[in-house]
Amino acid sequence: MAEQKVIFTGVEPASKVFVRSVKGSFRNFKTAMLLLAYSVYFLLPWLRWDRISGPDQAVLFDLDARLFYIFGLVMHPQDVVWLTGFLIIAAYLLFFITGVLGRVWCGYFCFHTLWLDTYMFIERLVQGERPARVRLSKQGWGLEKIAKLSLTFFLYLLVAFVTGFTFVLYWGNAPEMFKGFFHGELDSAAYITTLILTASTFMLAGFAREQLCKAVCPYARFQAAMFDRDTLIIAYDEKRGEADNGRAKPSKENKTRQQRQQNRIGDCVDCGFCVQVCPTGIDIRNGIQNECISCGLCIDACNQIMSNLGWPKGLIRYTSEREVSMGIRPKYFKPKNIGYALAFFGGSFWLAWNMAHQDPMDMSIRKIRKPMYVQLSDGRFQNSYELKVNNKTQNSVDLGLVVEGLKQAEVDLGRLKRLTLKPEQTLTVLVRIKHEAISHSNGQQPFEFVLVPKNIVFDPIRDSALFYTPKY
Ligand code: SF4
Ligand code: SF4
Repeated sequence: MAEQKVIFTGVEPASKVFVRSVKGSFRNFKTAMLLLAYSVYFLLPWLRWDRISGPDQAVLFDLDARLFYIFGLVMHPQDVVWLTGFLIIAAYLLFFITGVLGRVWCGYFCFHTLWLDTYMFIERLVQGERPARVRLSKQGWGLEKIAKLSLTFFLYLLVAFVTGFTFVLYWGNAPEMFKGFFHGELDSAAYITTLILTASTFMLAGFAREQLCKAVCPYARFQAAMFDRDTLIIAYDEKRGEADNGRAKPSKENKTRQQRQQNRIGDCVDCGFCVQVCPTGIDIRNGIQNECISCGLCIDACNQIMSNLGWPKGLIRYTSEREVSMGIRPKYFKPKNIGYALAFFGGSFWLAWNMAHQDPMDMSIRKIRKPMYVQLSDGRFQNSYELKVNNKTQNSVDLGLVVEGLKQAEVDLGRLKRLTLKPEQTLTVLVRIKHEAISHSNGQQPFEFVLVPKNIVFDPIRDSALFYTPKY
């Protein structure tokens, strides 16, 4: 392959791209990813999950209870660090994949690309293949055009609505929300969210289309920073395709490969199939371009043409700049990629370990400072604290509360006779500690609150606090 220059064309004025369908291995992979992603997104809210306590929905973000249920995992607000960790790990995975495989995320997994693919399928279904759609767009307004465009937009809207509505189902019991939604029984937030997501899906996949990738997507802007000469890209083999005298359509003198080689004409028969199948409407023969989302459809198209002609495939193929310019295999084991991989695996291990070793309960203490202390009629001093206990287990837990570090201190829970927490319950209690004055002190004595489980086995939970008295 001759060295190709990377062309950064920026954002050109939008002109509608009429994409032609193509068959091939990358198209099949793209379809498989789309079906997998849609199966997960649309079916997950309906998947049931047995829990000792809590909802029986496998994935549920319960805002009222402030709990996120993800299969066997229950996330509490204080577990937000996991979410942060997960996002950081996902970012490192994306950096690693981009550094090695280029923009495969855009080509096969990005939500916008997936929905755009569905909308293009709808267009083909209703309006026909590319030539029919081009003809329809050029013809004047008539019954056929109105009917076909109306049906296309109706199906666009239907897909957009199901997308928005499914998102809402993740935030409550899906079967109940499904019934409630159509009976007008849900909160206005459910309807507003569905409306916003329906409108945005319809506008982005139906109208913004490839312009979103070119002009808005931030990933498209910063991914160049992760690219190097060994990153996988899609490139046209210019040396083979153009030879010395350029490309040419087949003619009587340039029909067979031998004839073309004798005439120093390249293997590209200038059929334009690679351009017609491109969802971003670019011509990869002009060089590597930042609009290319690495979907591989132009490879399928060109391979199909080469197969029909009986010539070797791979005129357009996945390769790297190093291979293009120097003809040598790319190097994947580089410090940058190894660093991304280490950060990804290290972060994943940390997250998994943290989740597996989460405390079954947690406790926080807040000193009530007004007043700092009260002197009782028997001469002792009383300090008050707000104790917050969070039961993260799926069991009811009976707890004993003792203090260590204050001899013969009395723990007063007021009218509360015992500390019992239901599964996943958070309890806030006012605790008064009564204790004699501390001699020779600076007016404060450190001690510990200790929560001792009574009906379940795990280590006591401790938190430190200060007991205040007048200074002597
Ligand atoms: S040039 Fe090829 S790989 Fe790039 S977006 Fe177009 S069809 Fe996909
Ligand atoms: S599909 Fe292949 S042969 Fe046809 S124009 Fe594109 S590169 Fe040339």
